[in-house]
Amino acid sequence: LDSDPDADAPVAVELEGVGKRYDGTVAVEDVDLRIREGEFFTLVGPSGCGKTTTLRLIAGFEEPTEGRIHFGGRDVSGVPPEARNVGVVFQNYALFPHMTVGENVGYGLRFADPPGGVGREERVRDLLELVDLPGTANRDPESLSGGQQQRVAMARALAPGPDLLLLDEPMSALDARLRERLRLQVREIQRELGITTVYVTHDQEEALSVSDRVAVMRGGTPEQVAPPRSVYRRPASRFVAEFVGDNNVFEGVVVAGDGGGDTGIGTDSTARTVPVDVGGETLRVAVDGQEIVDGTPSPGDRVTFCVRPQHLRVGRADNGLRAEVESAEFLGETTRVHLGWGGRELVVRTEDPLDGTVLVGFAPEDAHVIETTFDE
Ligand code: ATP
Repeated sequence: LDSDPDADAPVAVELEGVGKRYDGTVAVEDVDLRIREGEFFTLVGPSGCGKTTTLRLIAGFEEPTEGRIHFGGRDVSGVPPEARNVGVVFQNYALFPHMTVGENVGYGLRFADPPGGVGREERVRDLLELVDLPGTANRDPESLSGGQQQRVAMARALAPGPDLLLLDEPMSALDARLRERLRLQVREIQRELGITTVYVTHDQEEALSVSDRVAVMRGGTPEQVAPPRSVYRRPASRFVAEFVGDNNVFEGVVVAGDGGGDTGIGTDSTARTVPVDVGGETLRVAVDGQEIVDGTPSPGDRVTFCVRPQHLRVGRADNGLRAEVESAEFLGETTRVHLGWGGRELVVRTEDPLDGTVLVGFAPEDAHVIETTFDE
């Protein structure tokens, strides 16, 4: 799950100790990123975490106050945006309304000739085909839907054949259905061109669905950089665990058990587990196969672990607890039920309506240890 077959891939963009300060405000800090050639790399995080600033620094619209940025090993300090060979698409498509669709795409060629020796008209036509809008060159941008306008903006950004494509929340002005369609189209175009892409979004689902790797940012700094599956299954911190999808985070103290051997409870408990006291309830957490730094937790150590809602099974007494149903949201395919347990909030997914007190439990293997604080 965590092995990274592309770890040795050539680096397209490297940020080394990058920081950006505006007077008193720290927008980004200690940013170390290595974006690989041809990858779809996403910066995701809540509002104000520094995603846009990081993208603007890569584009060259801003210069870092600390650190360095390299493109393919070349320091790009002081290189203006138009000389960085990057294509940028912003949140508001910002097509020129007084120009046709074709002229808008052609505007992308104002600093450069079309690549490959083709004529401008041919280049515009090819790009409109690439973004699946053939034959629209003479249309008014305003006669296109929001999603189509965004694809034109992408064609304009791609026109000069940039080495790097930067997308800043390109979907955020669109409705949910259109967003889902457009993100698949963007991903397809990216794959077809094999172009290194840096994408900014605050939407974790969007980030997980399109990216080769994501950087989850918090307070100006990436907190975890990994493929979507790893970020989801093995969040590196409580913040990541809670930001990426629903999660149930537990904190407790390891208690003396049966010597750390097999629990012998339940057929799915084959891994070595430790018993953890969480608010008076003893819950078992598998510790084999987990990347727990500095050894296995033992009695007295504090651990924070998480269990995804789909792994918290209703009616499971084994390794379970009793919680109160507080509210439910019907989502169509599933219902998300919020439970209260000793002042904590838990989330489960069910198909059946729930009421009153319910028993929920999890397989120790489905608990992921986020943090361990070893007893002195
Ligand atoms: P959002 O999703 O809301 O756009 P973001 O993650 O993209 O957020 P940034 O726009 O990069 O975050 O902003 C990071 C921090 O830097 C914020 O606190 C913001 O107020 C501050 N900031 C960004 N640009 C400037 C600026 N030009 N002058 C002063 N402060 C700024």
